[in-house]
Amino acid sequence: MRVANLNGRLVLVVGDETALDVAEASEGRFGPDPMSAYEDWDAFARWARSADVSGAPLDRAQLGAPVPRPPQIFAIGVNYREHADEAGYPPDSLPVTFTKFVSSLTGPDTTVALPDGNIDWEVELVVVIGRGGHGITRDDAWRHVAGFTVGQDLSERVAQLAGTMPQFSLAKSHPGFSPTGPWVVTPDELDDPADLAISCAIDGEIMQDSRTSRMIYDIPELIVRLSAVATLLPGDLIFSGTPSGIGNRRTPPRFLRPGETLTSTIQGVGELTTRFASSG
Ligand code: ZN
Repeated sequence: MRVANLNGRLVLVVGDETALDVAEASEGRFGPDPMSAYEDWDAFARWARSADVSGAPLDRAQLGAPVPRPPQIFAIGVNYREHADEAGYPPDSLPVTFTKFVSSLTGPDTTVALPDGNIDWEVELVVVIGRGGHGITRDDAWRHVAGFTVGQDLSERVAQLAGTMPQFSLAKSHPGFSPTGPWVVTPDELDDPADLAISCAIDGEIMQDSRTSRMIYDIPELIVRLSAVATLLPGDLIFSGTPSGIGNRRTPPRFLRPGETLTSTIQGVGELTTRFASSG
């Protein structure tokens, strides 16, 4: 099942080209707000699986962030071994966790105005929480996952690294710095949700290319360790970390420039297209 935000309305996506308006099809039981799917995810998923899936043609340009107002956004630093090596950080017992502020969210096909500084890319698998909870066990963790979407954790490295302590959250929260989409895919749609090809490219040149099976803390472990501290809420997002190949660790370093297009792809989930423009 794939769930999207089409022009601000909750839809089910059928194939690549058809969308079913949930509020109309459910006669108002769910929707039209895209966040309404997460108020009672289990009931929504049951309804969606039995819904008549014929729909209207899907105009991809109308897709917004599939989860536009998550109550919380968790983002994980250095969660791939080769990225931990390139960044020079040994893994900690608690995953390095920060937030991307909600106002930075945007959809799958957008243009981002580049602020001053050095803007870098980080393709990430984003977990969408269905059922919330505190103290979730590893055996139970998958039952709290509604699905996955593709995310970019765009990062302004000058402010991030200038101070005594890293400024992860602010430096990653400029307007448009959290592209997500194109939809939320439920884990049952994927052959192996723990092992997905993940990559990104600038104007077709591959920058990052890995597999989600190379995470240090896999999805269930992230849910265990985050929920041991914070209560997870329905509709929360977890940006699960990026593989190696970021611009800041290249020789010489490389950053995004006006006119470039970044494509971010996760096998079985989808693709984001992010264009960059000067802010002036
Ligand atoms: Zn990141």
